[in-house]
Amino acid sequence: MFCTKCGESVADNAQFCSKCGEKFSQAQPSQPSQPDQAQQPVSQPQVQTQAQAADSAATVSLVCGIISVVIPIVGLVLGIVAVVYAGKVKKMGVTNGKATAGLVLGIIGLVVWGLYSIIVIPACICAASAVSAAASIPYLW
Ligand SMILES: [Zn+2]
Repeated sequence: MFCTKCGESVADNAQFCSKCGEKFSQAQPSQPSQPDQAQQPVSQPQVQTQAQAADSAATVSLVCGIISVVIPIVGLVLGIVAVVYAGKVKKMGVTNGKATAGLVLGIIGLVVWGLYSIIVIPACICAASAVSAAASIPYLW
């Protein structure tokens, strides 16, 4: 349709002219602040949003899973994130390859860096304390 004031072409369900700001009376006057949400059918967008949310969660899971395998320590946290987001996707009832990959990679990251932090870091601390102990011997003399 066209604006009654300035003649600008506007959407049929528009409540205001985008050019001159003229208010159109034909759209729902009871809910002027949220015309788009009120007029759209409810069910279809929700399904799409859920699928999109599941897919984006799956993507987060996959990305975090990949990073978790690659980067030490940070990977431990990201591995948890990957598993959590993969779980979110599963809760939505969506089977998503990315979420599965993210879950597997996240678990790998958790196991690898979990073992790493349990074995390697204490070993390093032991080695460091041994070195410092050895270094402190001459001072004791
Ligand atoms: Zn106008």
